[in-house]
Amino acid sequence: MQQFEKGETIRLEDGRSAIVDSFLGEGAQGAVYAVSVDGQRKALKWFRKQPSERFLKNIRKNIKDGSPSPTFLWPEALAKVRTGGIGYLMPLKPDGCYEFTKFRMAKVRFSSFRAIIEAAMNLCDAFRLLHANGLSYQDLNDGGFFINPNTGDVRICDCDNVYPHGENSGILGKARYMAPEVVMGKTLPNSYTDRFSLTVILFMLFCVDHPFEGFNVIKHPCLTEAFEQRLFGKDICFIFNDEKDINRPVRGVHRNALTMWPLLPEELRGKFKEQFSDRIINSPQERMTEMQWVDVFISLRDHLMKCPHCGDETFVYGNQPCLNPRCRKPIQVTYVMEGAGRSIPLIKGNIIRFERTGVPSGVVIDKNDASGLLLIKNLTEKAWTVLTPSGKSLSLAPGGFMPVKQDLVISTIFKFKINK
Ligand SMILES: [Zn+2]
Repeated sequence: MQQFEKGETIRLEDGRSAIVDSFLGEGAQGAVYAVSVDGQRKALKWFRKQPSERFLKNIRKNIKDGSPSPTFLWPEALAKVRTGGIGYLMPLKPDGCYEFTKFRMAKVRFSSFRAIIEAAMNLCDAFRLLHANGLSYQDLNDGGFFINPNTGDVRICDCDNVYPHGENSGILGKARYMAPEVVMGKTLPNSYTDRFSLTVILFMLFCVDHPFEGFNVIKHPCLTEAFEQRLFGKDICFIFNDEKDINRPVRGVHRNALTMWPLLPEELRGKFKEQFSDRIINSPQERMTEMQWVDVFISLRDHLMKCPHCGDETFVYGNQPCLNPRCRKPIQVTYVMEGAGRSIPLIKGNIIRFERTGVPSGVVIDKNDASGLLLIKNLTEKAWTVLTPSGKSLSLAPGGFMPVKQDLVISTIFKFKINK
């Protein structure tokens, strides 16, 4: 229900005014408008029902403390109380970002694994910073964030339920995304339950389907609240649980999960199996931290490259075949670069990324002669120190080349050693 007309002015508590531009949409709690404040385009969320004083006090505190990460569409100012509700100002989501539910409905698709990995890292980074600030989100679900399918850029909305760890917003979260201990009424949402919801979303970024919706859910076409409580609480079972096959994805229904799961590297599948095992589900404090997830995604990114045979994106581990079903040729890896807990295959064309940001640091090329020797080009603006096995230290200028040779060590922010 649209409440404001174009051109209407809404006074803000910080003294500024928001001028309504257009109606953007509405959710369960209220509507969102595009507004302009001092010539800047922003969004205004307006609640239909007057929220509690505690809720407003919490938003005021979050406004004052500021956003932990630009990934959050964080409240910037409260509107002055007026009849017919209250609202708050927040950044507008950038063009090209779509609500994740659109990915679920197959209206939007990621353009590459690279974009999925980037989105996963962005989500983890945002939650790491949120939790590091002593806050929890409490209501992570598939409608709570926007993603750019080409770049993996993420924006998280509905930040009005962000409360300090241990305090509760009064909402439990959206069914199917809540941690089982919340579903079962054992605890209220906190940063550990956030981590469960985050893992559900991470699985969905890669597989699109829901990690706990398999045969068990299909069996009950009319899922009553009591059944939902059971299937997402006491009897929760991962669709790819190794020990129990009672909730496998169903052919023709969970097509995405069945298609995507076999394409994922074992190191990622193993983490999902572990995090969705009975043991970890029942030990919230042992759930993987956001930082540990980021390390997994950095490793995945290290192994994602263009197939030298067909040019398609594929994960390269050992001598595994290309993912492209029309190619399936084995990709031979002779040398890897090891350091900082990472192992980067050195095959022709691979772009090496030392830093978390993903900025290219180097590229592997071949020497273009009969030797078959591979070279690494320094794509950074700084010289690298290269240590030889005999103890010599050489400097590799920006744009310079070095050979891919056993036992050479590249020392930049991290040390990487070349091994067979
Ligand atoms: Zn290929």
